[in-house]
Amino acid sequence: MSDRAEFLVDLSALTTNVSRLKKECAVEVLAVVKADAYGHGLIRVAQAALKSGATWLGVALLEEAITLRENGVDAPILAWLVSPGSDFDSAISHNIDLGVSSLKGLQEISESAKRVGKKARIHIEVDTGMTRGGFLDEWNQLLREDFAEFDVVGIFSHFARADEPGEKQNIEQLERFKQMVKELQSIGIDPAIKHLANSAATIKDKDSFFTMVRVGIAMYGLSPDVAHLGTSKDLGLRPIGQLRAKLHLVKIVPAHSPVGYGASAMTQSDTKLGVVAMGYADGIPRIAQGAGVFVKGKKAPIIGRVSMDQFVVDLGSDSTAQTGDWVIVFGDGSHGEYTADDWGRASSSINYEIVTRIGPRVPRIYQSHEY
Ligand SMILES: *Cc1c(COP(=O)(O)O)cnc(C)c1O
Repeated sequence: MSDRAEFLVDLSALTTNVSRLKKECAVEVLAVVKADAYGHGLIRVAQAALKSGATWLGVALLEEAITLRENGVDAPILAWLVSPGSDFDSAISHNIDLGVSSLKGLQEISESAKRVGKKARIHIEVDTGMTRGGFLDEWNQLLREDFAEFDVVGIFSHFARADEPGEKQNIEQLERFKQMVKELQSIGIDPAIKHLANSAATIKDKDSFFTMVRVGIAMYGLSPDVAHLGTSKDLGLRPIGQLRAKLHLVKIVPAHSPVGYGASAMTQSDTKLGVVAMGYADGIPRIAQGAGVFVKGKKAPIIGRVSMDQFVVDLGSDSTAQTGDWVIVFGDGSHGEYTADDWGRASSSINYEIVTRIGPRVPRIYQSHEY
């Protein structure tokens, strides 16, 4: 147990979210565990997701996939941001599926497969309109490749605006995906796994399911887009993470005291302030204003600038909080605490960034969600 900060992760809530999403979509679920499982801890989350009905794992980086293998995970793993120059030999020997989005990448994988003496398992990523990863200008050339030495397991693409269900770009991307699947089939390649949907599409767009969905944020119980899709609660998801920190110090200060670097804030009246033992080195956004912590049954907003290791909250003159008490930085909101959504809004950002940036100094603790 840490003495100043911890991220409590409720794996039973994860199970609830995954099994529900799995039941609703009725296709294979790839659990997206990139970026240390969105900050919640790669290995424990991956294991729990697989126990809860996910059959695949998805990561961005090769090293994330290798870490999973080294920890005994033998489920299929897709790594989709494996750039040219990566250690493809290691990927192939670890039986890791590789997303491919360039001819250069394909070439290197093929050379590596020859060296290792094993077919490489690949998923062809196609750009259907997001204009980020995936084949676009090299697509016609790709269709002239000889895939004999590859095991083409999948074809996939990614939505740019799935969190805005009515958007016509979603329909265009869907149609473009179907078209590209057909073009690949026309050269005799028909990958068993076709996947396009992220969390938002898994929740809102059943036409996009094909044979598998890739679920990230929703599995962690967070909404892909609070403004367009509603909160976790509206979506029936249970946030699995609760970030807690200790009050390093509680003190009474007079009105008109300047607080923190740059004296960017001033106490309005005599009040009690709490110094929270967590700062931007731990992922608390420095620009956050309008969020805070929850302690002794009420919210205490941030006052002044967030520092590297600490920030100050205004507890209010009547607060019973004391030096050494734990506070909730964010949680599922059910007790009145701030949520990752609130912190996202307070930082001109989104819940995704709030959870993924929780720093390595904060221990992840797995237990059920009770406080
Ligand atoms: C991160 C990512 C996902 C998961 O997105 P969510 O919105 O968190 O569900 C799915 N697919 C790809 C390619 C990704 O990079």
